[in-house]
Amino acid sequence: MNDKPAIVWLREDFRLADNAALTAAAQTAAPLLLVYIRTERSSGMTAADWFREKTLARFDADLRQLGGGVHVFTGDPARLLPEIVVRVGAAAVFWNRRYDPIGREIDAGLKREFAACGTEAHSFAGALFHEPWTVKNRAGQPFKIFSAYWRAACEAGSPRPPLPAPREFKFFAGSVTGAQEEQLSWPAWTSSLDAHHEFGEATAQDRLARFVAEDLGHYEDERDFPDRDATSGLSPYLRVGQITPRQVWNAVSDAPGGLAHAAARAKFLAELGWRDFAWSVLWEHPSLDGHALREEFEGLPWRNDPSGLEAWKRGRTGYPLVDAGMRELWRSGVMHNRVRMVAASFLVKHLLIDWRLGEQWFAETLADYDPASNALNWQWCAGTGADSAPFFRIMNPVLQSRKFDPSGAYIRRWVPELKSVSDKDIHAPWESPGTRPANYPLPIVDHSAARRRALATWERVRGGD
Ligand code: FAD
Repeated sequence: MNDKPAIVWLREDFRLADNAALTAAAQTAAPLLLVYIRTERSSGMTAADWFREKTLARFDADLRQLGGGVHVFTGDPARLLPEIVVRVGAAAVFWNRRYDPIGREIDAGLKREFAACGTEAHSFAGALFHEPWTVKNRAGQPFKIFSAYWRAACEAGSPRPPLPAPREFKFFAGSVTGAQEEQLSWPAWTSSLDAHHEFGEATAQDRLARFVAEDLGHYEDERDFPDRDATSGLSPYLRVGQITPRQVWNAVSDAPGGLAHAAARAKFLAELGWRDFAWSVLWEHPSLDGHALREEFEGLPWRNDPSGLEAWKRGRTGYPLVDAGMRELWRSGVMHNRVRMVAASFLVKHLLIDWRLGEQWFAETLADYDPASNALNWQWCAGTGADSAPFFRIMNPVLQSRKFDPSGAYIRRWVPELKSVSDKDIHAPWESPGTRPANYPLPIVDHSAARRRALATWERVRGGD
């Protein structure tokens, strides 16, 4: 190749290191043209859109330091990418594979179109340990149970070592018509997210290094306590590909601590394994966010309860741990995993509201929103998935609160009305007379009554009434 550019089509891979498509394109010695195609939004910006756009801006700024940048377009990639290839006379197109149902269809169509017109198109394994179709059981079937999946994935060997960033870059200097310079306008609600996030490949690497040095050793013991900051906080970076699971695996495997930390390391890597597993389930079930994997749940009579749903979304259920989580989500775009489980279980089992409505709210408000992990975890919490907590296991939000936020520090951080309530009373402030501040709601459902109602409903579904 010579002066004809090589296009690197960025999607969920805003990084220089361990970026197989970028490395392969750089190795051709052709000038690089980095392209991002923003799809037109039919509805408003979500928190994940916000995180992606901020990341894109940061990656563009990093590339400008190296003399390059990202050329951003808006529209349908199936139409735009071939047009860009023609406009700049590109010699080849490179991308890292993505695995969502719509994305994979677009990419397959483009591969066919480029093959038909003689344009080279090279794709590479994306940001998972194993591509979704590669881990199968002995009968060649996809796994339904995580533990069996992860055992087989680990037996397949460690992931390949991460690639270093290309040593040199040559960027395409010609003009690219249609690329946009415009600044996006951010909806007002995104301003509260700013205080909770930093962007950039270096930031993601720093976060990983700090986690490995300070928190990995006690991850297994402390990961369930929401006020302890004991987890990696890497999920939004993994989602937009500012860091890869291979880089994380490498750093964690090389971490000091020897055998003493072996269990913590294994636990942490298995959590990352859930991310791969979710993508393998979505690969097999493209409508994972819309259809219960266990068919019998399609007949469950969910309640139509708009005010209950609204109270849940706004963190006004009267259950302090649930409310703290939902307010953390709204203000920061993330929520601690244990609290995600409690809040999801509360919506589905205490309020008997369809899990899909909760899944959609998380899809709008999570900065780390991932179509596979979100849908799989919602089905897990609702009991509708293949490898799920059973429906009849109903989390008690007060006991969860006493166990995992014993001092109430997490609740006080997000529910300021309760900041003067004692450690003992903060988990159920309605129980002791005179404890509940007037501006904090009474519980919108009684735990025991809601539990009985959920179990009775489940029995009817099981009995086929
Ligand atoms: P750590 O504990 O440090 O874990 C490291 C990484 O492992 C995470 O960054 C994530 O990539 C992966 N991971 C950990 N737990 C899970 C899990 N249960 N499922 C899949 N991957 C996991 N995670 C998302 O990334 N996007 C989502 O949209 C999402 N939606 C969820 C919805 C519900 C109802 C629940 C219960 C969980 C959801 N999770 C989702 C999983 C989990 O809550 C987050 O990955 C985790 O809280 C992120 O924090 P961390 O990076 O500090 O995690």
